[in-house]
Amino acid sequence: MKKTYLLTPGPTPIPESVQAEFAKPIIHHRTPEFEKVFSSVRAQLKTLFQTKQEVLTLAATGTGAMDAAFVNLCSPGDTVITLNAGKFGERWGKIAGAYGVKAVEIKVEAGESITAAQVDDAIQKNPGARGVFLQASETSTGIRLPVKAIVDLCKKHNMLSVVDAITACGVFELRMDAWGIDVLITGSQKALMIPPGLAFIALSDHAWKVAASAKLPKYYFDLHKELKVQVKNQTAWTPAISLIQGLGHALTILLEDGLESSFKRHDILAEATRAGAKALGLELLAKKESDSSSAVTAVRVPGTISDGKKIPKLMREKYGVTITGGQDELEGKIFRLSHFGYCGAFDITTGMAALEMTLRELGHKVQPGAGVAAAISVIERRGLFS
Ligand SMILES: *Cc1c(COP(=O)(O)O)cnc(C)c1O
Repeated sequence: MKKTYLLTPGPTPIPESVQAEFAKPIIHHRTPEFEKVFSSVRAQLKTLFQTKQEVLTLAATGTGAMDAAFVNLCSPGDTVITLNAGKFGERWGKIAGAYGVKAVEIKVEAGESITAAQVDDAIQKNPGARGVFLQASETSTGIRLPVKAIVDLCKKHNMLSVVDAITACGVFELRMDAWGIDVLITGSQKALMIPPGLAFIALSDHAWKVAASAKLPKYYFDLHKELKVQVKNQTAWTPAISLIQGLGHALTILLEDGLESSFKRHDILAEATRAGAKALGLELLAKKESDSSSAVTAVRVPGTISDGKKIPKLMREKYGVTITGGQDELEGKIFRLSHFGYCGAFDITTGMAALEMTLRELGHKVQPGAGVAAAISVIERRGLFS
């Protein structure tokens, strides 16, 4: 027997009490019993999104909500500005392409964030663009984007701000209403601590107005149709009933301590992870550490290891600790340690210990315990348990 650990940026581990929910018999959705659950989940989602708007629940993965944002806001002939700091930012451009919408892409090197000045420049050159589509946390590189500054620019130029917060919502501060974010999106298998299968999207008043005249074809993801019924605790199509029941429990756990506490915990776990990696003589992918996302840390494969793909492979196969490597051009060049969702101090130290053993086995000399010690020291100094 080998005990296994999941330290990946989706799916993330599921709390035991939430897991138990999925063993219960299925209920029917057109019943007062389902409506009671969904009513409470709707209120919890508004707290999570920091919004008074309805947060729509869709039976889809996160990409489904990205697709929904697109078809509900754009019309043929539109131009949009997409921010590509990695694979998920690139996806906005691909979605635009699929619908024949012109995407003006700002692309930066892996490990860099995108500045408000770069976005301002693109807005000046494309004054008629429908909106700016971005990630709050670019999961493929572990980079955070300056959401508030970008949203401010969008407001100034009357453009929509569409924020994929799939590894940011519940992880760090994103105030939908206070900052004036037009569209906020997340997914179930990330910080919400349940399996894949649900996506969430909320629209501002301005976004709903734009949606009323958007002309791209849509059927399943018609958000007006969903809004009309979800406010009455129903869904347009069969909801993912069991996932919604589990979500209620997961959100109760998340919100019990409050969002602030969740943001602080993630910030400490991220700093502990970066400190651990650095103590092992490793280099972070983030060019500026202050651009790091507190959801996931991307670390460069050291020059001492020729085949970087061996790191996640050995960690998973030999030590039972699943982490992720790099995607596309980052394959074999980085690995990613995830630290969000149902994750605590001892997930970090476990991952760090397995990483140390893996690196040693692959010929990268590290002192056993050096990464763990650095991580613990951050956790203690920042008072995670106090
Ligand atoms: C996981 C993720 C998505 C969505 O992926 P799905 O596989 O469709 O759930 C989108 N954006 C970001 C930033 C993500 O981390």
